[in-house]
Amino acid sequence: MARRRWEPLHRSLCAVSREEPQAVERRGHAAAVEIDAPRLSTAAWRRPRGVVHLVGAGPGDPDLLTLRAARLMREAEVVVYDYLVSDAILEFLNPRAERIYAGKQQGCHALSQDEINALLVARARRGKRVLRLKGGDPFVFGRGGEEAEFCAQHGVRFEVVPGVTSASGAASYAGIPLTHRDHARAVVFVTGHLKNGSSDLDWPMLARPRQTVVIYMGVTRLAEICGELVAHGLDPATPAAVIERATTPKQRVVTGTVATLPAIAKAEGVKPPALIVVGEVVSLRPSLDWLATRELPLDAAA
Ligand code: SAH
Repeated sequence: MARRRWEPLHRSLCAVSREEPQAVERRGHAAAVEIDAPRLSTAAWRRPRGVVHLVGAGPGDPDLLTLRAARLMREAEVVVYDYLVSDAILEFLNPRAERIYAGKQQGCHALSQDEINALLVARARRGKRVLRLKGGDPFVFGRGGEEAEFCAQHGVRFEVVPGVTSASGAASYAGIPLTHRDHARAVVFVTGHLKNGSSDLDWPMLARPRQTVVIYMGVTRLAEICGELVAHGLDPATPAAVIERATTPKQRVVTGTVATLPAIAKAEGVKPPALIVVGEVVSLRPSLDWLATRELPLDAAA
């Protein structure tokens, strides 16, 4: 009985502590001894059990939510969500939960990152179950790491729930395997949204053959990105694709080569959110485009 009470407290100490594990172990043990004693009302035990769940909502199709994400969405008391979280996914939320839109569309942030961090910690400190719902996976270009660090620094309990990152969702739904023994032995995820210009990226590494490069947040700089890849030695005939609104009913896939794709995407009016995929694997799409032959469209599938 005493042990069962001790375990969650110990786990929460581990989640928020920056101390050596041995020190946590000792404190956890000391807490266990206290709880064992008849005086159960220590301040730490009475404090409200607020928690921040950093949850990946996947790329758009609600069928790609994890069971854990769906359960936490039903239980959440406060939800802080990004613009990449689709309406179809928001339908799974507890209807009584407080909903806070955090934005983060390019050039249009409803809340700054500092405000989001402060909000998560403030609500958790009121004892709330806070759901921080993010597109894709929270630890892939999602600032989930920064938010988790902030919680840790402020002694707020947090958990991370992975989601299907948009590169996986987009590649699967476009019929483009990210790796393939005949075409790509490595896959690189990189952001095209740069603080200090294009020189930030390791272009010689990205231009290597026999790998797949997936570029997040890069579609508005597609011409520059393709130009740099070719300038650093990538064959201009390398197949490339842009996948817009992947896994949603509005998914659109535009293909070409690194030489031709910028003009094709411009003519098609491709817009964010979209991913750029560069590599021989893109040439497999015509034979692997299973979505084109699916019986039900994405918005009608059960
Ligand atoms: N954490 C997210 C990435 C957030 S960064 C994840 O794991 O997917 C935002 C970028 O992700 C967008 O600019 C776009 O490049 C990509 N993205 C997210 N959802 C997408 C979707 N449904 N279709 C295409 N690209 C998407």
